[in-house]
Amino acid sequence: MTERGRADSQALSRWRRVLAQLHAEVGETTFANWLSRLDFVEQSDRAVVLSVPTRFMRDWVAPRFGDRVRALWQQDDPSIDSVEIVVRVDGAAGEACAAPPEAVAVKPAPRAPAEPRASGPLEELENIRATLDPRFSFENFIVGKPNEFAHAAARRVAELDDVPFNPLFIYGGVGLGKTHLMHAITWRICERRPDRRVIYLSAEKFMYQFIRALRFKNIMGFKELFRSVDVLMIDDVQFMDGKDATQEEFFHTFNALVDRNRQIVVSGDRSPSDMEGMEERMRSRLGWGLVAEVHGTSYELRMGILQAKVEQADAVDIPPKVLEFLARKITSNVRELEGALNRVIAHSSLVGRPITLESTQEVLHDLLRAHDRRVTIEDIQKNVAEYYNIKVAEMSSARRAQMVARPRQVAMYLAKQLTQRSLPEIGRKFGNRDHTTVMHAVKRVDQLRQADAGFAEDVELLRRMLEA
Ligand code: ADP
Ligand code: MG
Repeated sequence: MTERGRADSQALSRWRRVLAQLHAEVGETTFANWLSRLDFVEQSDRAVVLSVPTRFMRDWVAPRFGDRVRALWQQDDPSIDSVEIVVRVDGAAGEACAAPPEAVAVKPAPRAPAEPRASGPLEELENIRATLDPRFSFENFIVGKPNEFAHAAARRVAELDDVPFNPLFIYGGVGLGKTHLMHAITWRICERRPDRRVIYLSAEKFMYQFIRALRFKNIMGFKELFRSVDVLMIDDVQFMDGKDATQEEFFHTFNALVDRNRQIVVSGDRSPSDMEGMEERMRSRLGWGLVAEVHGTSYELRMGILQAKVEQADAVDIPPKVLEFLARKITSNVRELEGALNRVIAHSSLVGRPITLESTQEVLHDLLRAHDRRVTIEDIQKNVAEYYNIKVAEMSSARRAQMVARPRQVAMYLAKQLTQRSLPEIGRKFGNRDHTTVMHAVKRVDQLRQADAGFAEDVELLRRMLEA
């Protein structure tokens, strides 16, 4: 045996030991569905290279088992310092979830072979599905009052084999965890039922695929592809606002899948009934199943999220006071909260000084200033009422007399200009008015500003007062 041959066979038998150990640790199902698909490629220098058949599978296996494989390997051979998992070239056409069809055979309880499915759409599926973020799992999702309902609904969809409600519609403002929940559903279904064909993609990608199919005269292929899935997940459906042909196609896909009792999950930034740019029939279909809102965060939820992040990033030492400070100050959404925490940690590790309340305020001064300046609808109502000398209560009253209706419209206008609130949200704060009323107010104030210089000046003055 050559030198090289001996090294290879040694590495191979190490790999077999590592695999046997993993098998014992993870149990039969996980092993059969995921780890049995790993192949040893080579050991070169200080790295071990393993392969899996699909990109999707790599994204699943690498973050969960990469470190463990390395640790087990190092027990045998301390010279190894990295494990790399690559996608096998020959296996590119994977099953929607992960395991290619023959994986069925290695499952603990053999069952009838899956019905044969054409390979064309499968390859396509693998190509167009979005990459899933391994961090966006249920395990990493912190549950609190604002998101408990959406979270429970997402779990239900991911953990039941039948279709509990169709569609599940998750909505809420930016950065509140909608995409995280959708990825988590995908991960969980694929973990439990690797035979399921799941596709997750953004509404934008759906449109892009549709347009491409039109251009290349492959609408049949497009239809076949999307109608062949067991679970369809479309993120950020508000992107389809005003895009009639795409909506129409989505509508048909939607109906075809519902007829076949396949699960659909959709997310958006508003509730279905507030999707103004959607056709009425589409709006009503989207609201058919379960509609779950992810609400803005609470102090408790923000604290929970910060604590979980700090735990994950162990090794960093952050005083509880700093966490409390962040949870109190960065209230907009989870994405900004995470960003703030990361900045604080990165800064401290760069300059090599411990994290303190002072250093935190310094590092985040721009962000904190923007937050302090953020005007609320209540501020606007109060200031406008004072300015026009009416009661604040008139902002929400039903009275239509011009002397209260006009200031109310000005306040709605300023709320639209100066806050991040959506039209429906603004409407709610003004005595539960419809979003169309707010839209009308915005238009009306704009017209008056053009026509009446005195009025324009009033509005400008109010704006400056509020922004100061
Ligand atoms: P959305 O799709 O609603 O705009 P994302 O799902 O992209 O928001 O979430 C933004 C960031 O906040 C992500 O990094 C996500 O992991 C994190 N996040 C949101 N909600 C939670 C939560 N409840 N627990 C942990 N992380 C969260
Ligand atoms: Mg999102």
